[in-house]
Amino acid sequence: MARYHGNVCRLCRREGHKLFLKGRRCETEKCAVDRRNVPPGSDLRSRPRRLSDYGVHLREKQKVKRIYGVMERQFKRYFHNAEQMKGNTGENLLSILERRLDNVVDAAGMATSRPHARQLINHGHITINGRKVDIASYTVRTGDVVGVRGKENSKKVISECLELNSDKGAPQWMSVDRESNTITINALPKREDVRFQDIQEQFIIELCSK
Ligand code: SF4
Repeated sequence: MARYHGNVCRLCRREGHKLFLKGRRCETEKCAVDRRNVPPGSDLRSRPRRLSDYGVHLREKQKVKRIYGVMERQFKRYFHNAEQMKGNTGENLLSILERRLDNVVDAAGMATSRPHARQLINHGHITINGRKVDIASYTVRTGDVVGVRGKENSKKVISECLELNSDKGAPQWMSVDRESNTITINALPKREDVRFQDIQEQFIIELCSK
């Protein structure tokens, strides 16, 4: 699956928001948005451009794609699935994105950032219900148990991350066992469980439904 390999801070500056793509560094004074919150390539002295309605909606979609590390084709597939589900399409879409395995590993504190979570998964360190899963976009279900593969090295890296993130609580829809390095999915995420509460999903629906 194609993905962005460039400087992720540029993505935050483009959106004008902190997207928290670099873990703890995002909370320090080194954050590029805190230091220079202008789109890449623009002059600090120039006046910010006014966006059309279409532009605002497009930026919201791009922001969500960048937060979850999803490219256009996959995003369209998620949107289609969200439309087929019962209930509010926007909330369904965010729920599907939250259930991605890389998001789960990151949210539980097993990795230092979402890209790190993706790397752990791609390198075969993560299991679901005891079986290796190396697909970062895997969608977890209620009752799934996310674990760490037998290797001592993997366990050490993940224990260290859990320790480092022990001050951050895991979302309510999952429970984390720091002794056994496992995450249990207790329920499907609801709108209030989404970590980025400022997402305006109705803009995305308006854009994608055209
Ligand atoms: Fe974004 Fe984090 Fe870089 Fe700040 S440090 S610009 S929040 S990726």
